[in-house]
Amino acid sequence: KLSVIASATNNFSDDNKIGQGGFGSVYKGKMEDGVNIAVKRLFKVDGQGIHEKMFMNEAALIAKCQHKNLVRLLGCCIEGEERMLIFEFMQNGSLDAMIFGENRLKLEWKICEEIILGISKALLYLHQDSRFKIIHRDIKAGNVLLDEAMNPKITDFGTARLFGSDQIEDCTRIKIGTHGYMSPEYAMNGIFSPKSDVFSFGVLLLEIISGKKVLSSFCNLQESNLLELVRIVWRLYNEEKTSELINNCLIDTYSTPQALRFIEIGLLCVQEEAV
Ligand code: ADP
Repeated sequence: KLSVIASATNNFSDDNKIGQGGFGSVYKGKMEDGVNIAVKRLFKVDGQGIHEKMFMNEAALIAKCQHKNLVRLLGCCIEGEERMLIFEFMQNGSLDAMIFGENRLKLEWKICEEIILGISKALLYLHQDSRFKIIHRDIKAGNVLLDEAMNPKITDFGTARLFGSDQIEDCTRIKIGTHGYMSPEYAMNGIFSPKSDVFSFGVLLLEIISGKKVLSSFCNLQESNLLELVRIVWRLYNEEKTSELINNCLIDTYSTPQALRFIEIGLLCVQEEAV
């Protein structure tokens, strides 16, 4: 059952702020028992909080999504027009900062593999569990958080539904999703399906393996170089270890014939969009 948490969430000073996302600001907090938490203080729309009943319903749905590779929603909080979601705290922050930031690390292959596998398992769970069948719509390195043991967990699933798509367009984003990760059918026509998530996952896969940001690093390449690059990345990937990874990944589940083809398409579309 989703707990409604009344205290421990009210110190919104800049010192405690750990991030800012498309749906609100994120603060570090502590529960009364000393457990660290992340509090997402959602944006208001026209000065008003999301309708209380809808907020509670959607939050209850998010809380039902429990998987070891999903950031767990611990509770929620309503204070006047404020709407807050309380998540488990992820010690090692976002994968984005880990692989691209100033302090980026060259992750060992084994860790990369675990991260990729974990993300694919969580995505599969979101897509296939008949209780919710959630399409994430914004799979990217910034939405993968790492716990103290470097286990990856996807965040921001279901948050979009709290706002409803119309309001999202008005306030923070043109569309849910991130340029460079969006599948062509979604970017151009707004049509989304689990496959759109799989596309974004492919882009993310390439970023994790190559350590480079797809949008900024690859889009200026000529098409021939681009394909060559994909081949190199793919060969590297194959040499390390494959069968386990592919067998467990969504790539198979959605019967894309070859992961290589899938990543190729991803990169080509990114390039086309950038032109
Ligand atoms: P976005 O909408 O851009 O994906 P989020 O609102 O999910 O961003 O989060 C913004 C930042 O706040 C993250 O990049 C991360 O650094 C931090 N953050 C979010 N949730 C947590 C959490 N549960 N534990 C630790 N840090 C978090």
